[in-house]
Amino acid sequence: MTELPRIPTGGGCREEPILKQRGQREVFCGLTGIIWLHRKMQDAFFLVIGSRTCAHLLQSAAGVMIFAEPRFGTAILEETDLAGLADAQTELDKVVDQLLARRTDIKQLFLVGSCPSEVIKLDLSRAAERMTEKYAPSVRVLNFSGSGIETTFTQGEDACLAAMVPVLPKTEEKQLLLVGALPDVVEEQAVSLLQQMGIGPIKVLPAPRADSDLGIGENTVFALTQPFLGDTHAALERRGAKHIAAPFPFGEEGTTAWLRTVADQFGVTEETFTRVTDAPRARARKAISQASEALRGKSVFFFPDSQLEIPLARFLTRECGMDAIEVGAPFIHKGIVGPDLDMLAKGPVISEGQDVDLQLDRCRAARPDLTVCGLGLANPLEADGLATKWAIELVFTPVHFYEQAGDLAGLFSRPVRRAGLLKLEAAE
Ligand code: SF4
Repeated sequence: MTELPRIPTGGGCREEPILKQRGQREVFCGLTGIIWLHRKMQDAFFLVIGSRTCAHLLQSAAGVMIFAEPRFGTAILEETDLAGLADAQTELDKVVDQLLARRTDIKQLFLVGSCPSEVIKLDLSRAAERMTEKYAPSVRVLNFSGSGIETTFTQGEDACLAAMVPVLPKTEEKQLLLVGALPDVVEEQAVSLLQQMGIGPIKVLPAPRADSDLGIGENTVFALTQPFLGDTHAALERRGAKHIAAPFPFGEEGTTAWLRTVADQFGVTEETFTRVTDAPRARARKAISQASEALRGKSVFFFPDSQLEIPLARFLTRECGMDAIEVGAPFIHKGIVGPDLDMLAKGPVISEGQDVDLQLDRCRAARPDLTVCGLGLANPLEADGLATKWAIELVFTPVHFYEQAGDLAGLFSRPVRRAGLLKLEAAE
């Protein structure tokens, strides 16, 4: 029999009270998602309608990662454009015309909204509709917001995928849809494991190209690979697709539970499941046990940032022997992270949203061995002698499924080990 993850005796955290605070937040905006999305959608272009700050964010955060012709740009609205909104619309039309004339490889154009109030006032969804008519059928134009006022850094992907769902064609086919942008190698591993169990056809959102055969319908069942896809989840359900709620595929346990839940939907036998997963499970367990040595008995504190916090806390506490002090998430959608909350033993404070000063006070008082937080908080906490892990790295690094489970533990153990060495040096 496959040994499946157990719910902790005494129950998990699903029904535990949630500390909800609202105040100043310290997170990146949703434009960040463009950095990984542009690599997944090979014929897409992301046109940010924004300020110079937006252009700087994309250039400095993403510049180093672009080695091919860039697939995103910023239409910077100058003061003159902003004097009258009609001008801004005309200016935008002009930029798009020039772009599409120059770049005939673009099949999907995303108009991405940002923070300046003049941009917020622009009706980008009307602009996208108008442009879709104008450039049909060769280019599909969609819009979403990456504004820091409305989105945290992983919500940009959610907003982008949610914008795509309503325009996908309808299909009656019974199919599995994997939802979330994963590095290609990780996506291939996941698809391969599922195919070895006889599950198919398998489709992926985002699809690599606009003309892929991806459709949605009532016989579509979908599994999320990222926990931050709340709007996409809702958009898919509106199209009649059925969500498979499962713990997220982080670590050996999470991956096994995710695969098992999907496999159950497709009637995969115990024997087949075991045959396909036994070897990679054993490899993952071994890799985690080596990589997590430095983590055993250590404490961890999560600031809300990526929305990966709850599944990661489940992984670190159950598979790496850590104690969670606080698990903060920007939003808690129990329909999505409920299965992970079930497996997370009672004990840590579960918090949603943020009043950053109050949370910093709690963190400094608890003095955790490791704090997972955004870039903006890492420096002050390090200056206080606390070891930190930047949440954003978790989105840029391949961490899902069995073969990456050891690397995932390694991402957390490195700063803990480094802090230990620094303490030793200081004591000598
Ligand atoms: S927070 Fe707003 S202004 Fe700053 S980069 Fe993001 S979208 Fe642009």
